[in-house]
Amino acid sequence: MFKKYDQKQQFLLPLNLESFVSEDHISRVINDLFDTVDINAIESTYSEEGCPAYHPRLLLKILFYGYLINIRSSRKIGGMTETDTAFMYLAAMQKPDFHTICRFRSTHLDSIREIFSQIVALCKEMGLIGSSISIDGTKVKANASPKQSKSSDAIEKEIDKILRESIETDEREDEIYGDSTPYRISEELVDKKHRLEKIKAAKKKMDEEKLKKVNITDPDAKIMKHKDGSLKPSYNCQVAVDEKEQIIVAADLVDEENDLHQIEPMIENVKETLGYKPTIVLADAGYFSYDNVQFLLDEEIDAYIPDNFYEVEKRGKTKKFRKLLFTYDEMKDCYYCPAAFEIPFTRIQKRENEPDLRYYVCKYCSLCVLKNACTDSKNRTITRDPREYLMEDMRAKLNTEEGTEQYQKRMYTVEPVFGQMKQDRGFREFLLRGKRKTKIEFLMMCTVHNIKKIADFAKRRGKSLKEILNMITGGGSQGLNKGGVLAGIANMLC
Ligand code: SF4
Repeated sequence: MFKKYDQKQQFLLPLNLESFVSEDHISRVINDLFDTVDINAIESTYSEEGCPAYHPRLLLKILFYGYLINIRSSRKIGGMTETDTAFMYLAAMQKPDFHTICRFRSTHLDSIREIFSQIVALCKEMGLIGSSISIDGTKVKANASPKQSKSSDAIEKEIDKILRESIETDEREDEIYGDSTPYRISEELVDKKHRLEKIKAAKKKMDEEKLKKVNITDPDAKIMKHKDGSLKPSYNCQVAVDEKEQIIVAADLVDEENDLHQIEPMIENVKETLGYKPTIVLADAGYFSYDNVQFLLDEEIDAYIPDNFYEVEKRGKTKKFRKLLFTYDEMKDCYYCPAAFEIPFTRIQKRENEPDLRYYVCKYCSLCVLKNACTDSKNRTITRDPREYLMEDMRAKLNTEEGTEQYQKRMYTVEPVFGQMKQDRGFREFLLRGKRKTKIEFLMMCTVHNIKKIADFAKRRGKSLKEILNMITGGGSQGLNKGGVLAGIANMLC
């Protein structure tokens, strides 16, 4: 026996779009969210005249749903509106072509930044955000081949080659056409002209920014070392993730390979989005600098950031005596070594834009039985930055039970976020090019991450997003957090 199978059957009642996806399907969360976000900025760019355009909410829904399920190409998203029930539901059976989707994405990049902030504000109102954040960065490959990263010499040679080849093509065409003009310029010449323009623009950027290499395909991307040791044109994606529900509360994209200068901008970013500063900040050793620690102290933020040598010294993995074994005497401005000799201050090293570095040189090493374990040099030298107390205080804090516990939270707050983006959503390479566009593409990835967290929260509560929003705004008996940004949303839901 088989169930009845008839592809020509007629439906008694018209199809209901709501039946295309299950009650708890994540596309419903996307639908409810993008029915409520404020899109005045996008709507204001449309003209009242001419042929009616696809509704921006429709395009936002299918774009963000695509990003959520690892479909970022506008061609594929367009195709899915014809074959996939969730896309059909979100697009209400309309079928925008890929030109429309692509144009919409590039026209409204800046509004997408605003949508990220609105969704973070919504998470805040839903009580999904606390005040302890972890900051981290990951390198994501640009949409460009490493082979297209070239030095100044290589670029000059390629410009010469293209010019030479173009002249040869011209001469060949002269032979064929004589004084008459061909119907249109050959594709070969058009390609060469296009390539030449790109190379010249890349060379200009290289000269302006005094770069050693530049990528012709995406001149904004920089060669960066990835965890597997490979070197690729990439961007450094930064996030600040709240501990409570792993919501990304701030995100940015920079073309600087190391994370050293990202603490202050990220804290400012968090303040701008949340309206308050975090009370606790966790970050790995890549973010440690005296300036960063001092900034966080001035901001009265409780920071947990180890320095680069903290782990190595803690595990005693250094070959020679660790600096930790030398005790500093502030009164006498000297160190005491493990053999109990006094190491006096000897000289100063001047540094650009940094305080002088102080040198302390031991005079007793030649007499010492511990010398082999201490130094290969004639005399052991210890250096001291006047701000070193910041590192010592930080190490002391990290060594406490509470400090260790706090710092470990970083591992399950921020690290899984990049895992989910890269493993679950396939975000290993940008689709768009240039810093401005990749920044927005990264914000879209962060937005869908937060949407997934909202969907998980709703699922745990066994309610639809609409029901939760009604509860928050006072529509239900278990109000979570009344007022705020949701007042407007509540009106739209009613
Ligand atoms: S080698 Fe010099 S600095 Fe090291 S323990 Fe001996 S005396 Fe002290």
